[in-house]
Amino acid sequence: MRSEPPYKDLYIYQLDGVPSENLLPKNPFFLGCWKEDDFSFLFFSIPSVEAVDRCLSGLDGVSLVESYQMSYEEWQGGQVLVPMEAGPFLLHPYWIDVKPKRGVIRVPLDPGLVFGAGFHPTTRGSLEALSVLWNLDPSETVLDLGTGTGVLAIAAAKLDTSGRPNSVVAVDINPLCVETARRNVEINQLQGRIHVVEGSAEEYVAEPADLVVANLHYGALQALMDCPLFYEKKWAILSGMLRSQGDDILRRLGSQAVEVVRYWDDDPVWRTLLMRRI
Ligand code: SAM
Repeated sequence: MRSEPPYKDLYIYQLDGVPSENLLPKNPFFLGCWKEDDFSFLFFSIPSVEAVDRCLSGLDGVSLVESYQMSYEEWQGGQVLVPMEAGPFLLHPYWIDVKPKRGVIRVPLDPGLVFGAGFHPTTRGSLEALSVLWNLDPSETVLDLGTGTGVLAIAAAKLDTSGRPNSVVAVDINPLCVETARRNVEINQLQGRIHVVEGSAEEYVAEPADLVVANLHYGALQALMDCPLFYEKKWAILSGMLRSQGDDILRRLGSQAVEVVRYWDDDPVWRTLLMRRI
């Protein structure tokens, strides 16, 4: 087992435009492509100007805007990734070996370059909400909207040793998140139970499930709450909202046939809630 992260220095090239999948560099130093609106970011583990030039030479209308270099810790918001307890879970980078206490659920992760290593208060709030819900009413089917690393989908699938939930659909709009979540599903050997798909929360909320988990930015949460099918789920966990956004969401839920079972407001900034259909 290695104890060093596989990521050290990151070399990031910002492009105006998005190269198609088949033109992306194919060398071991290429870590992935992050797409955001009309821009994309190519990540490498070594300086790669030539590889980027080669990729751009086949493309019309895509150009290099800027390049950046930073450490993996800087990319992770200044955090050195270490094992972390969250509710009944022990999340840890897959390259660090851990010996959990009895009853603790181990979740090894390759956080890669995407959100969901486990230290963010919204991830932790959602993990706690999952374990509270499991003591009330374990779900058979789960929909994780905005899965990032896949952390919540994997945690849900590991909560129960009886094979519940038997199906988890994990959705992300960002292809790099989809790739990362699939890798983590494999690391946790849950390929049969978790299906990771690329798509938007608004589109996939139509998927039948007992529980929907959504740790999303406020705009995406609002779009979700405009979908009537969202309110048909038996249970929902919402996170990703700031204090005032949480107040607004509570107001909006007040006019729906739902009950907020628990509202986590102990973090100074972030809010998480667990609700059920009535
Ligand atoms: N679920 C992980 C966690 O709890 O740590 C990651 C949450 S992160 C705050 C939100 C994720 O939602 C990102 O991976 C982002 O790519 C994705 N996302 C943003 N807007 C989305 C949308 N409209 N539909 C689906 N996924 C979206």
